[in-house]
Amino acid sequence: MRPPYRTFSDFLAERFPCKMQKLTVDAGFSCPNRDGTLSTGGCIYCNNSSFTPVRADGSSVAVQIARSKDFFARKYPDMRYLTYFQAYTGTHAPADTLMRLYSEALDQPGVDGLIIGTRPDCMPQPLLERLARLRESCFVMVEYGAETSHNTTLDIINRCHTWEQTCDAVRRTADAGIETGLHFINGLPGESTAMMMQTVKAINTLPVDVVKFHQMQVVKGTELARRYLRGEAGIIEFSVENYLDLCVQIVKTLRSDIAIERFVSQSPADMLLCPRWGLKNHEFTDRLNSRLSSTSCGCGHSG
Ligand code: SF4
Repeated sequence: MRPPYRTFSDFLAERFPCKMQKLTVDAGFSCPNRDGTLSTGGCIYCNNSSFTPVRADGSSVAVQIARSKDFFARKYPDMRYLTYFQAYTGTHAPADTLMRLYSEALDQPGVDGLIIGTRPDCMPQPLLERLARLRESCFVMVEYGAETSHNTTLDIINRCHTWEQTCDAVRRTADAGIETGLHFINGLPGESTAMMMQTVKAINTLPVDVVKFHQMQVVKGTELARRYLRGEAGIIEFSVENYLDLCVQIVKTLRSDIAIERFVSQSPADMLLCPRWGLKNHEFTDRLNSRLSSTSCGCGHSG
């Protein structure tokens, strides 16, 4: 059943003639919100090991890609790959170091492009111009962690950047001819569902290609977990049904040309305090798609 919204697979299919797989690498970057450049505490929900796959263990980029490719190539010999610099801040290093690491990734057989995850305040114009030149010969997408459009929330979570910085980074990236993604968290401390929907409307004003959402997860060992255990987290604890309702509204409100890569994420069960839905990501998405299909007008876009 085709989901009644534009998926990340749709987005990739317009750019590549074959099946593409993201390979996550950990290039050993730090984060300015942890290393003292901006702060040492980091975002209050951040425990980077909760979203970095085990394979990304700090070996060289080439070795990590080779290992991950082995894993997929056995099952899908014709698969091609995009290297995903996900861990911490994928542009937080001198530009020459970054370009060397990106080139190392692109030099690996089967790799056709890069996806670089970073913060909106970590994209200096000279680096963007070098990425724009790289984009002339291969696929390059930059994915910014925006999290919300509300500066009051960004303060609460110690994000140390503003929504205005996100808008500026997205516009400059799109102007440079580079595909642009944004990442958001639904259910941040202090946010109502009305605020979350205001963020979706704010996304619609930007030249963005792909968005990712996931539910707020309270992960052990974080400042948010400490607040949660004291009863001071200030978060909505979505049930699956309530979160499905929110995602339906998001699909109906988001501009139909923006691809949605995901709605949920799953931290390892032994690290997760809440929500503990016991659903795999694809099981949630299947339930959402079937609910959307039952309310779609059939024109390819719900609502
Ligand atoms: S969530 Fe990202 S930006 Fe925030 S502290 Fe962690 S790595 Fe840094």
